[in-house]
Amino acid sequence: MPGLDGVELCRRLRKGEQGPYVYVILIIARNQREELLESLEEGADDFLTKPWEPDELRARLNVGQRIVRLQQDLVHSQDALYFQATHDSLTGLNNRRDILAVLQREMSRCTRQNTSLGIVLADIDHFKQINDEHGHQAGDSVLQEVARRLLATVRAYDAVGLYGGEEFLIVVPSADALGVVVQAERIRNAFDKRSFGVGTNHLDVKLSTGVAVADSLSSPDPASLLRAADAALYRAKKNTGRNRMELATSSEPNGNFPAPAWRAAPQGPPSA
Ligand code: GH3
Ligand code: MG
Ligand code: MG
Repeated sequence: MPGLDGVELCRRLRKGEQGPYVYVILIIARNQREELLESLEEGADDFLTKPWEPDELRARLNVGQRIVRLQQDLVHSQDALYFQATHDSLTGLNNRRDILAVLQREMSRCTRQNTSLGIVLADIDHFKQINDEHGHQAGDSVLQEVARRLLATVRAYDAVGLYGGEEFLIVVPSADALGVVVQAERIRNAFDKRSFGVGTNHLDVKLSTGVAVADSLSSPDPASLLRAADAALYRAKKNTGRNRMELATSSEPNGNFPAPAWRAAPQGPPSA
């Protein structure tokens, strides 16, 4: 190889190696013992000495193929384990721990970039009744369909996770209060207007949402933001409420969040 010897080739291949494993067999002259040792040190997997025989190369390639397959199986199992550890098995959404990690990460990013970020806590209305009337399995199907609709409704860079049994957390980065409220209403409307087909039944499934926004002025920590969204959700559910969105305000516990100007406007929040 003009300009590149076996040692250097191995070094470059292994440096910051990503993607599928590259199995390296060196074909080397008998008197290149030092280069051979160095190449093995730098990541070569096997070698043949010149003159080489095709049947020996074939045999060694078969060994290489076995090792590459084992390595690929290992990578697939690691990916599967990682997915299981970070996702909910019923809905396929990010699980609670993972969506909280996303929230933490996005809040740090928004602080760094001096942009605001919002969260939407969405809880299915009267879900216990759905379980009681149609059975737990129907309830599970509803959770799966809710997850699908949420994913279809949010923007590509929003994240959706299962926060609790029938409660979902949507992280909406780089959006101000108005943007997050519009998003929350879009989510609620995705349920308000369309019923669910579960078996032969058509169910009306509605969501209530609590919204909290962190901007560069308020910049609370994730736990405070969640508490504020939770308090807003509680208000959305209160008494005969439900199928409603509420935005956390400065009076919310830990919610030092300025109310947007439209809150005082007689027409209320803009429709999605
Ligand atoms: P609200 O409108 O106030 O939110 O009423 P709700 O009935 O939705 O809320 P409640 O907290 O009273 O009940 C939640 C129910 O969600 C109770 C629990 O059995 C059910 N649930 C939680 N996780 C799952 C699940 O994974 N599958 C099913 N089928 N049901 C679940
Ligand atoms: Mg509920
Ligand atoms: Mg709930």
